[in-house]
Amino acid sequence: MSERTHDLVIIGAGPAGYAAALRAAQLGLDTACIEREERLGGTCLRVGCIPSKALLESSEKFHEAQGALAAHGVKVARPKLDLKAMHGRKDEIVTALTDGIAGLFQKLRVTRYAGDGRLDGPGRVVVTGADGAETVLKAGKVLIATGSEPADLPGVTRDGDRIGDSTTALAYPAVPESLIVIGAGAIGLELGSVWSRLGAKITVLEYLDRILPGTDAEIARTALRFFKDQGLEFVLKAKVTGAEVQGKQVRVDVEGREPLTAARVLVAVGRRPHTAGLGLESVGVATDRRGFIPVNGSCETSAAGVFAVGDVIGGAMLAHKATDEAVACVERLAGKAAAFDPALVPAICYTDPEVAGVGRTEEDLKADGVPYRKGVAPFRANGRALALGHADGRVKVLAHKETDRLLGVHIVGPRAGDLIAEAAAAMAYGASSEDLARVCHAHPTLSEVLREAAQACYDTPLHG
Ligand code: NAD
Repeated sequence: MSERTHDLVIIGAGPAGYAAALRAAQLGLDTACIEREERLGGTCLRVGCIPSKALLESSEKFHEAQGALAAHGVKVARPKLDLKAMHGRKDEIVTALTDGIAGLFQKLRVTRYAGDGRLDGPGRVVVTGADGAETVLKAGKVLIATGSEPADLPGVTRDGDRIGDSTTALAYPAVPESLIVIGAGAIGLELGSVWSRLGAKITVLEYLDRILPGTDAEIARTALRFFKDQGLEFVLKAKVTGAEVQGKQVRVDVEGREPLTAARVLVAVGRRPHTAGLGLESVGVATDRRGFIPVNGSCETSAAGVFAVGDVIGGAMLAHKATDEAVACVERLAGKAAAFDPALVPAICYTDPEVAGVGRTEEDLKADGVPYRKGVAPFRANGRALALGHADGRVKVLAHKETDRLLGVHIVGPRAGDLIAEAAAAMAYGASSEDLARVCHAHPTLSEVLREAAQACYDTPLHG
């Protein structure tokens, strides 16, 4: 059994782990990163954010060619779907990005260990390779960045084929004639949109009386209307209790309702932290009731010298939150002053239109009795949105009633995911809605809608 020593050993090479490794190496720490998958980048790069965005973009092109292009005066013959090519393009993007991380590891001299990492007492991590060979790593500090995995739904056994999770739904070999999506979160709505655009009949079953939990409710209601107009069917207040493959169909049981059937089922009911087999008990790292690893303000766990970041500690299970948290954590380990504010993490659902938000929702403010003002502006009056042919949706700006400080910005509309960055930057600098409104915004751009909403919040929109 070989033995090696590093300043920092990171378990997991997703957006938290690889970012931590790169930053630590930049700051001069002798850094090792353990990953069991062949490709670096974690769920996000391999089977999450990136491949889903590739399919969202490709399916949107197919959908546009089927009709929407005609409105631009571009007439095309009936488009044909080459799903194999679409998957091929997606795979190429994933390969380019995961290879890019491997290249950065080499450039910055991050030592990569292939295998399963497990804590084995204070300052010791054991890596077990695919061939069973073990390597012992001694480390001053250990960082757990093992991420999360799809949550199970009682009564529903995923077979990786007809009843699958997001990984299965990113690689269906053919367009299913019908697809039941369990859960109206970002995964269900994004992948439901992909297969709907490619021709599948989609039914989304959601336990709550709304979609996109955590999103501003008014914005989520508007989004729901758009998705229904696109032909997606929604059954809200539907608690799925079981699913069973019956020949070429799957029967899905819903409490208090008739069962439904479809060719495929996508289970997208959230994710759970990935801590199995990590040897947490060997150093006394505690987990909470739901399996997350609690940490202090420096991301240190209950065991001294063992840190954790990303999905495995809970909070927003988003790649950019994981990355920023990881970078701040290792910067502190390297002796720098660094902070990360989890209250200013933008959340985006990459449907059409996109749904994005940062800061507090209107429900949050009401629940906490915070006095606020609200400004709303629609995309339909925006020249750029009309030129794009995507003018559905609106921006909502929330600011404190007395101080005018921005408290939250919520958008459903074209490129909402890009527009929200300006709101996040303004909020990070403590801007007021008037500050945002007085910034010169280029014309004609979609960002003018954000400005109009900010104007509506503190005074009157110019075009209101
Ligand atoms: P989610 O928690 O966002 O949504 C799951 C939904 O499933 C909830 O609305 C829940 O009420 C519903 N549900 C739970 N049990 C149910 C049942 N028995 N019957 C019917 N509905 C039920 O989870 P997700 O969409 O699976 O995403 C997982 C995580 O990954 C989330 O934290 C999400 O934010 C993140 N993610 C983000 C993006 C993005 O930012 N674009 C994309 C994908 C995933």
